[in-house]
Amino acid sequence: MKSEVRNLATALLLLLVAAAAAGQVLAPAGPSVEVNGTRLAVLSDAGCDYLALAQVVEALGGRSWRVEDRFLAVLPGDSTTPDLEFVFRADSGTVRCPGREVFLPLPPVLLDSEQLYVPLVGLAEVFPGLDRSLPLLRLTDIDERGDTVLFRLGLDGGEATCQGEVRSGLEYRVVIGARSDSITVEQVGLIPILASNGLVSSTRLKTGAGTVLQLLFRRPAVARATADAEGVLVRVWPRPDRKVGRIVLDPGHGGKDPGAVGPQGTEEKTIVFDITGRVKQRLEAEGFEVLLSRRRDEYVPLPARSKLANEAKADLFVSIHANAAENRDACGFETYFLSEAKTDWERTVAARENAVLEYELPEGADLTEELELILSDLAQNEFLTESSQLAAAIQESAVPCARVKDRGVRQANFFVLRDNYMPAVLVEVGFLSNRSEEKLLQQPQHRERLAEGVANGIVRFVLQYERRVNGS
Ligand SMILES: [Zn+2]
Repeated sequence: MKSEVRNLATALLLLLVAAAAAGQVLAPAGPSVEVNGTRLAVLSDAGCDYLALAQVVEALGGRSWRVEDRFLAVLPGDSTTPDLEFVFRADSGTVRCPGREVFLPLPPVLLDSEQLYVPLVGLAEVFPGLDRSLPLLRLTDIDERGDTVLFRLGLDGGEATCQGEVRSGLEYRVVIGARSDSITVEQVGLIPILASNGLVSSTRLKTGAGTVLQLLFRRPAVARATADAEGVLVRVWPRPDRKVGRIVLDPGHGGKDPGAVGPQGTEEKTIVFDITGRVKQRLEAEGFEVLLSRRRDEYVPLPARSKLANEAKADLFVSIHANAAENRDACGFETYFLSEAKTDWERTVAARENAVLEYELPEGADLTEELELILSDLAQNEFLTESSQLAAAIQESAVPCARVKDRGVRQANFFVLRDNYMPAVLVEVGFLSNRSEEKLLQQPQHRERLAEGVANGIVRFVLQYERRVNGS
């Protein structure tokens, strides 16, 4: 048993080290890791690395299976020790281990309703004998250079892994693959006092499976954590003034225009109004000013919505919709920027979303001519690059966040985007024509995840955009 534990410890430690190099976004991160001679793919989501529980357990010589929302894993004992049983849950960071509970720094992620992915930094604590092989974390130094606060967390041997996560302009979290003791916890608590520029308002160090360092700021700040041979370096500096301050969100339909209607009668206007409100709340928490193109379930003509955005001198325009298709199997999330439609599908979606014009033109008027406007005349042409980048940022953020099918970034000629003098995109959050997706869209938790994904995508785009503009 002892040597087995050591082998296991070595295997998982190797795996922690190898994962330090893994990438971003929920996708194969490239580098795989080896557990007991088996190579396992690393998946990355929001800066955290995950391994499939079933594969880890198999590599450790155990077996795992699912019972409803629980995932059970058993590692074989020997003649003197019984089998070791572990119970994981999707979306809960608590793992039941033999004789104790372990709190993972991040909850596992359920993919394709099948595979449970567990954060790498948590695995070391869950499986036995490994906690002592995690290096010990110590606060070794604090320094200020101009506006920037630097603090170094040293390690007593071993290699560091860290994964930083921007929670908002006022909060930063970093998950570190190391354990910490009470001395370090106290020292970290002193950082706000030691840092004289008053940027950091409080710090917290939570220990458990790995260590979570949480930083709260008095004013919007940027933070970065990097790992090197000696440990982890965290830098915090005030966020430069926003170049993007005002965002117009357009709930795609309202009033006499219900938009698409699902088989159970769910109306697009209801779903998108709710999601838009959630995105608004999240963006306001990030310090943006957010205007809605309609305040309630009312009809607002297309030109009025562009006019509002232009007159308000908004910096971004995001129109939010739900999809519909004749093919009832179609499902997933797609984001459009304005350009000429390249595929039949793109033309179909544009035609459906533009159908709102029926409410605006005198009866019998011909839309065809209107629809064939030459794109070079459009206001949007100037912002094509930014709009396509905004679309990509939203798509890449929302798909893993809401765990929906990725239908990609697309382009089509949408009237609602056409007259905006700013980067503008149209989001289709899911298909009301698909029975299971209609059901999902009825769930507030799902709408919240979609809103979180959209809002984070917008924030990510703004950060990249401002970094380019500010040259930092
Ligand atoms: Zn729509």
